[in-house]
Amino acid sequence: MNRQPAIFVSHGSPTLPLEKGAATDFLRSLGPSLGRPEAILVVSAHWDTARPAVSAAEHPETIYDFYGFPPELYRLRYPAPGAPGLAKRAAGLLADAGMQPQVDPQRGLDHGAWTSLMLMYPQADIPVTQLSIQSPLGPAHHVRLGEALRPLREEGVLIFASGGATHNLRELRHQRGNPEPQPWVVEFNEWLADAVLSGRRDDLVGYRQIAPHAVRNHPTDEHLIPLFVALGAGGSGARPQRVHSSISSGVISMDAYRFD
Ligand code: ZN
Repeated sequence: MNRQPAIFVSHGSPTLPLEKGAATDFLRSLGPSLGRPEAILVVSAHWDTARPAVSAAEHPETIYDFYGFPPELYRLRYPAPGAPGLAKRAAGLLADAGMQPQVDPQRGLDHGAWTSLMLMYPQADIPVTQLSIQSPLGPAHHVRLGEALRPLREEGVLIFASGGATHNLRELRHQRGNPEPQPWVVEFNEWLADAVLSGRRDDLVGYRQIAPHAVRNHPTDEHLIPLFVALGAGGSGARPQRVHSSISSGVISMDAYRFD
């Protein structure tokens, strides 16, 4: 069986699949570099529920969970098959870990899932399911969620966490297209990289209290939360890798990490 890593990517704007640049080049190369997974379990910042939920949809619809973007974006579809068997397996692992997962028979793929997957696996032929986050429960809960899911990697399942290493949309509007990376973004982004690469898990879990400009970069937690699932799923053996780093529109980090 093809052992798969856990990956965290920053998905940036919903227009990602229409963009050209370092981040999209990275995602196009990431898919082929991983070998073909049996299936993909996506943990997206854009599905946030009170209890962990997994989607058992046979044919997940492409969800356009954004407003006011160019019409061509709403014409894109990602028709990958669902992975109801994987959804039930994931729910079983979470139940074994003492959580109370729900199986959602219908939930489709939100843009946190499909905009990146469209670049990574344009043929849309690998089965995909989504797992929700519980952002009010904070980082430590999501590390445990990832730990519970770790056995899936041995079964050829790619654990794909999609959020944002930084995410402040109000500051994005203030930038008014200025591409110059802002010092408070760079400082947080580099702190994050150093903490991930040196395995400082407690610092990461407590990032809101100790990282420089943490709350300015994440006024709310939900875009960083998927990183903690990948961290937990990665385990403590191999060294994490920063597989991509760039800053979009001055304030949006597009950084990505790989956990083997
Ligand atoms: Zn997002």
